[in-house]
Amino acid sequence: MLRPIPAIVILGNGSLATARKIQQIYPDALIHGLAERVEGADRLYREFGATLRELYLQDTPIIALCAAGIVIRTLAPLLLEKGAEPPVLAVAEDGSAVVPLLGGLGGVNVLAREIAAHLDVAPAITTSGELRFGTCLLNPPAGYTLGDLELGKRFVSDLLAGETVRIEGSAPWLAQAQLPQDKEARLTVHVGHAERMACADELLIYPRNVLIAVAASTDDLSGAIRQALHQAGIAVQSVACLLAVDTDMANVTLRETSLELGVPLRFADAVADVGELVRGVIAHPVCLFGNDAIAIAVAEEPLDPLQIGRPRGRLAVIGLGPGACELMVPAVKAELARANDVLGYETYVRMAGPFRADQVMHCTDNREEMQRARHAFQLAAQGRSVVVVSSGDPGVFAMAAAVLEALHESTDPAWHSVDLEILPGVSASLATAAQAGAPLGHDFCVLSLSDNLKPWSIIEKRLDLAAQADLALAFYNPISRSRPWQLGQALDIVARHRVPETPVVLGRDIGRPGQTLRVTTLRQLTVDQVDMRTMVLIGSSTTCVFPRSDGGQWVYTPRWYGSKPE
Ligand code: SAH
Repeated sequence: MLRPIPAIVILGNGSLATARKIQQIYPDALIHGLAERVEGADRLYREFGATLRELYLQDTPIIALCAAGIVIRTLAPLLLEKGAEPPVLAVAEDGSAVVPLLGGLGGVNVLAREIAAHLDVAPAITTSGELRFGTCLLNPPAGYTLGDLELGKRFVSDLLAGETVRIEGSAPWLAQAQLPQDKEARLTVHVGHAERMACADELLIYPRNVLIAVAASTDDLSGAIRQALHQAGIAVQSVACLLAVDTDMANVTLRETSLELGVPLRFADAVADVGELVRGVIAHPVCLFGNDAIAIAVAEEPLDPLQIGRPRGRLAVIGLGPGACELMVPAVKAELARANDVLGYETYVRMAGPFRADQVMHCTDNREEMQRARHAFQLAAQGRSVVVVSSGDPGVFAMAAAVLEALHESTDPAWHSVDLEILPGVSASLATAAQAGAPLGHDFCVLSLSDNLKPWSIIEKRLDLAAQADLALAFYNPISRSRPWQLGQALDIVARHRVPETPVVLGRDIGRPGQTLRVTTLRQLTVDQVDMRTMVLIGSSTTCVFPRSDGGQWVYTPRWYGSKPE
């Protein structure tokens, strides 16, 4: 079963060799290096604290190559709030110490042992139960789940105090642990899928070996499932996954039920009934209970949901923001981390990366928008997690509209079943405006000057009306080699309605290396100061400019209009 892929975080070049060595055990893990201090990391970050906290909140296991104290202080504000936590380890820069810090129940000691073995040092394991018994009883391996954590803690402390234990049921990993076993023991570890109340001296561990096939049309599905499980005498904790037919993929009840039960939802081809659905994916179910709406099958071994049927595909259209990593919204970072496939114009795909070896990049030309959108649906309809990247915001002269258009044109139910989401980004006009001050602080109008997809006459008309309406203006795609004259004409139109002193902001490669910001006026603006990587902001009649202490200028458009309110 899949374990989450850790992130290896380093602060300086001195740790790179150790980081690469750790990466040999986790080839899909990326090395995150501090920008300007590390050369050759897989991904650069600017702020250590923000990066570490973000990884932690996304449940990414963290291997930080720095002092344990730095990691503790950085994550401290988050510790009280979070229930389940990912493993967090500090590893000495030279690989001489491996210190598990957090995530005892998330398997931090397992990671610590693996890393330490690879670095040929002893892990600094401090968990008493783990030290004594060689395993964390409270953290059973994938495929098993603990009944009650609080009872479990008491149970382990009884064992540590010298009690012996009996094991009932099949628990292969416990056989290898050094537990003080005794057939007459008062304490019992009970492993099984039967529904039962734990007795005082019992630790319940459930194998996840139950599969439930469901029909989406059932009323109160989760209630019906719980009742069916109860009637069958099966514990809800043993449910490994829900299975439904693929024509029900977009069904909201199914999604809510799987969330409510905390189990994954998988899909298979439609068959005659739910019983057949189950038999289609488990060869020899031990027992099968069911009715028309719900079939319950128990397998001999724990089930890996990833091997059952297929998941609902996902397609996310994301905005990278202008370029700088800190201007990318966290939801977009999380989406990139879960992607199987990444599609887009090559420059943007590279900006979104680097990607792990298991992630597939599909780079295409900037003009092939509709083809890219259709390709994205084809991949997502196979159950993959697909990301289409745009710079800035995907809804501003970018891929979101193309993706929706492709879906609107399609009659393929598999495309309409895809879990489609648009995740916003900081658009170039807003990123540029923020650097200049607040030139778009009042009503403004956003226009693309490209006449590739709309007639120039429409652009002229909109420009004229927007300029006449005294809106501040933001021009995307202002000029290109194939569109050399359009910007000059656009400025002539604006000049009919604005005085020559009107402030103009030019932002080039904002949020990217070598960015420039220039504050000028309509009179001084010339077409050769602008290229296709430039954002042009033109003030309204109320836009003001004043000097800032660093020698530059602030530009803002006040929020009032007409006469200033008292
Ligand atoms: N979806 C993008 C816009 C795509 S149109 C967004 O929301 O930002 C492409 C145009 O956006 C470019 O011609 C340029 O005018 C502007 N642009 C995009 N990124 C920029 C950046 N980092 N700095 C300045 N302008 C940018």
